[in-house]
Amino acid sequence: MTIIKLVQIMTTDFGVYIHIPFCKQKCFYCDFPSFAGREKYIDEYLKSLHRELELAAKKIGAGDQLVPCTIYIGGGTPSHLTVSQLERLLEGIHDHIQVKTVTEFTIEVNPCSVDEEKLRLMRDKGINRISMGVQSFDDGCLKRIGRLHTGDMAAERVKLAREAGFTNISLDLMYGLPGQTLDMLQASLDTAAELGVQHISLYGLQLEEGTVLAKQQAMEKLRLPSEEDTEAMYDYLVDFLPAHGFQRYEISNYALPGFASRHNSLYWQDVPYIGLGSGAHSYWQGNRYENPVDIGDYIQAIAEDKFLHIVEETVSDKDHMEEFCFLGLRMTQGIDKEQFRLRFNKDINEVFGDGIKEMMTKGLLQEKDGALSLTPMGMKYGNMVFGAFIID
Ligand code: SF4
Repeated sequence: MTIIKLVQIMTTDFGVYIHIPFCKQKCFYCDFPSFAGREKYIDEYLKSLHRELELAAKKIGAGDQLVPCTIYIGGGTPSHLTVSQLERLLEGIHDHIQVKTVTEFTIEVNPCSVDEEKLRLMRDKGINRISMGVQSFDDGCLKRIGRLHTGDMAAERVKLAREAGFTNISLDLMYGLPGQTLDMLQASLDTAAELGVQHISLYGLQLEEGTVLAKQQAMEKLRLPSEEDTEAMYDYLVDFLPAHGFQRYEISNYALPGFASRHNSLYWQDVPYIGLGSGAHSYWQGNRYENPVDIGDYIQAIAEDKFLHIVEETVSDKDHMEEFCFLGLRMTQGIDKEQFRLRFNKDINEVFGDGIKEMMTKGLLQEKDGALSLTPMGMKYGNMVFGAFIID
């Protein structure tokens, strides 16, 4: 496996995440903080976001503007906003963020709500990366997980994004879906590769509590692929993507050279970020914060001028060391042992020596160029390795 070195992080770097919690319909697997049928709150929500951006810029910005290295508008479904709502959102961002120095500006879109006009607006306002939730190009699979678009529609929207000038397009796909066969996954991967996108995220289905799929499972109405079939899908995709030029740089993420997501890489490299909007998380000066998930509670908190207001936790050294390792292990470049020493003033072997030895003996962990990383086998059974990086 090729080890991809991610972008060099400067000590002053941070990312900004902006959450749009609205969706047309809740997908059957989704437990993200997103809601369907709350469109009447969108205008008020956007005003609160604008105010939160202003508060953030005043408190931690330079010259009343935030100067991050990346911006990521996620959700929910940002493309569910109308053109005029999207325009207001993007203008608010330009009011309080210095967009011209941002290296990567991503927006998540759904094939069923993105169109040419929205794409052109996004491009005009400085967005340079599109992340499209597709999940599968198979119409049966899409229907069974509650997606509102077809495979053809998704393919057509990718082409539309390219015509609008986007040269950095990422697709989210899933495997292990209800009724999905290896053939169906193969066909979806073929389509994704033919579409000429630059980045693919591939997630195995997880049955999260409270979702429609979890309820179907409880009622024994869910037809999932067998463990062997799901494993065969995993084995296929980890070979297919590199063979088509997509280098794996994180457990679930593959990119053409130079197209690894800079924003998501910040999370995995223990870099600070500011999250704006309902349910958004921030990691700032060693503390973690979380905005209220409920849209009404969020609007109320912002009306009271609260910014970074709910301190979830001050990260202890123990938690920080564990998390530094979990995140590092997710990336193919692994945990930089020297970075660990500089951050915690300890050699990583002093803290996790026994576990490291055991995982190496099992062939799940390797050391290369001063970094500890998962072997291909370790990538498959990551949870076993993560368990070795927990301090009792
Ligand atoms: S569109 Fe995305 S955020 Fe919305 S329900 Fe579906 S998976 Fe969840």
